[in-house]
Amino acid sequence: MFSNLIKFFNRITIKIIILYSFTLLVSLVISFFMVYSFFEIYLENKTKDELINKAKTYKILFRQEGIHGLRNQIIKEAEIINNVELFFKIYDKKGEIVLNTNTGIHTKDLVINLENYGKLKPDNYTLTTIDYFDVIVYKLSNRYILVIGKSKFENNKLLNRLMEIFYQAGVIVFFLSLIGGILITNSITKKIKNISNTAKDISTSMKLDSRVPITGTKDELDDLALLINNLLDRIEQLVKTLKETTESIAHDLKTPIARIRSATENLLMKNNLSKECSNLLVNIIEETDSLTQMIEDLLTLSKLESGTFQLQKEKVNLSNIVKKLYNLFKDYAAIKSVDLRLKIQDEIYIYANEKYISRAIANLIDNAIKFNKENGYVNIELYQEDQGVILKIEDSGIGIPEDKLEKIFEKFYRVDESRGVYSGSGLGLSLVKAILLQHDASINVISKEGEGTTVIITFPNITNL
Ligand code: ADP
Repeated sequence: MFSNLIKFFNRITIKIIILYSFTLLVSLVISFFMVYSFFEIYLENKTKDELINKAKTYKILFRQEGIHGLRNQIIKEAEIINNVELFFKIYDKKGEIVLNTNTGIHTKDLVINLENYGKLKPDNYTLTTIDYFDVIVYKLSNRYILVIGKSKFENNKLLNRLMEIFYQAGVIVFFLSLIGGILITNSITKKIKNISNTAKDISTSMKLDSRVPITGTKDELDDLALLINNLLDRIEQLVKTLKETTESIAHDLKTPIARIRSATENLLMKNNLSKECSNLLVNIIEETDSLTQMIEDLLTLSKLESGTFQLQKEKVNLSNIVKKLYNLFKDYAAIKSVDLRLKIQDEIYIYANEKYISRAIANLIDNAIKFNKENGYVNIELYQEDQGVILKIEDSGIGIPEDKLEKIFEKFYRVDESRGVYSGSGLGLSLVKAILLQHDASINVISKEGEGTTVIITFPNITNL
């Protein structure tokens, strides 16, 4: 679960989307901060200007009509304005209140400490903030101080609205950036997927002629695809050369081996040979036969693994093929005191190359008999299931140690050459695997040392093809 989560966040797509959305959100926050600060300062300055202008207008009125005139005018104004938003106070030099329009719920109990403003000269003012109010303290004359306060409520309402818009924009930008991120990464990952699919094709089915599609957008990924294709061209050429070299060496070897064999046969025909000499010549013939077989196997393997060779396949009756092989191996098994048993469903068909698939199955039956014990058994089962056609070859033989199981498909690998007198080149199972790969079939080996081995092959159902 946790490792799945790590894997998910390690995906390039997710990393790009997160980075993209994060960058967009950070830019949005920074822009908002700048806009917000600008507005805050602008509104603050606007309020200050308003307060100064108002105080100056009242100062003129004070000069023209004295304190009574000013008082009457402010009372008149206070009646029509909302005293929650704006308040006026006039103090005399003793600090006694001459006028107070301070009646709103928020402003009623507002205390203005005039001590600090005592040193102000007439016509001078101080701007300050008391609770939720921007306040101007204006010295009208040596006798009177005018105080005008304006609530920050309107400004805060505006700033809060701005904040709300930002939150909404943030959510919209976040989702838009997700969609944008997905669109951008989709086009990138599609190209990367093309590259990895080609690599997968080559590694799983050795299709060396696969190439990465070039989209023609001439971007870095197209350059990479071109580079990989060039590399594949070279690898394909190299494999071809290697295959040709192997084939020509194998062909060159076949002729002298055939000559040795026929010369040995001729010698064996002679009558005057000692028993020891005859045995030696028979041994030589046997060795040349296994050498020829090994060369044949190597040639077939190199052809199958070249990636350029495709087996011709048709609908074949696997039940009949297995039956034929059973009849072929029956006597050999009897000689080895192994009970060869057959349990198959009739009329099971697969798409296969009869010659090659027979060879692969024969190899497995041969191994099951060869690596068996005296009075042992080999069960051959064939049946059809939803997931495919199953061929099971189970033996009661010497088994394969667990740590060697994954190596048995390697070329020339033999579990333990000192395990007995078993003949073989170690190429059999490599051939089996290469043949099965061409049939899209899977092979699974279960074994316990000393108890036996079960090989399970699953062919695709003909209906699934
Ligand atoms: P070989 O020519 O030696 O039979 P294979 O490629 O067929 O080569 O098998 C590789 C090795 O795997 C064999 O040498 C043997 O040690 C082991 N092996 C294969 N099949 C069996 C089996 N049915 N039981 C025990 N060991 C097996």
